Amino acid sequence: MIVDVVLAAGARLGEGPLWDPRAAALRWVDILPGLVHRFDPVTGEDTSFEVGEPVGTVAVRRAGGLVLATASGILTCAEDGSDRARLHDVATDPPGGRFNDGKADRWGRFWAGTMLEGTDGAGAFYRLDPDGSLHTVLTDVSVSNGLGWSPDGATMYYVDTRTGGVDAFDHDPETGELTDRRRLVDVERGWPDGLTVDAEGNLWLALWDGWALRRYTPDGRLTDTVELPAQRITSCVFGGPDLSTLYITSARTGLGDDELAGQPHAGSLFALDAGVAGQAPGEWAG
Ligand code: CA
Repeated sequence: MIVDVVLAAGARLGEGPLWDPRAAALRWVDILPGLVHRFDPVTGEDTSFEVGEPVGTVAVRRAGGLVLATASGILTCAEDGSDRARLHDVATDPPGGRFNDGKADRWGRFWAGTMLEGTDGAGAFYRLDPDGSLHTVLTDVSVSNGLGWSPDGATMYYVDTRTGGVDAFDHDPETGELTDRRRLVDVERGWPDGLTVDAEGNLWLALWDGWALRRYTPDGRLTDTVELPAQRITSCVFGGPDLSTLYITSARTGLGDDELAGQPHAGSLFALDAGVAGQAPGEWAG
């Protein structure tokens, strides 16, 4: 597979790529400086707005605008970041952490989890329902990360990076309830980070410190490794008008000058034709 550098973004912690069909653009975040980006793949133009605090994830809101999960909680805003409204204050236990990865599902719910750097078990995983109510789904989470759903919605996949793998749950699309947590994949190359699930049900997993993406079947069998020119691969999503381009984010944070000199594309946005399309993106229905 041929990997293109579509945006030499130089992101500190590029994350959370999301295809927004209404904008015909890829939204993504640079978590640490608190930037929400919008990349237009036709023009190559990338714009961003500042949140004013670290932002872990962005999702599209069905009513218009966006929903953000930040260091302090969950808020809504217009597409340009204006008109902010706070929905929920959320803190880690102990406090001082922030929201990390999150995603809206195809049934109108928004899911996101938290982390506190250097403290295992301080985070949690949350579900924001369309009525605005926030539910704690998992506690004792260390680094809440990638998530996704099988095409039929019966399975949800979830990464707590510090556990070194991907777990699966039974998922009820009617209620959002998760049951029967089990280990699907153990990762021995770097750390599991963000993920997406394609239209055929295969998982594409970003490997932090792994210089690669990996593809796994729904039953957890490794079928492909895509080598990438950056050490800290953070997340991926299918985008473009037919959802056939796999966009990949990466990071520079924590790398020394010597390491960065050897990987000038660290922090870039990559893309490749994976030979398969993604699932339709979700929206928060609130
Ligand atoms: Ca991540």
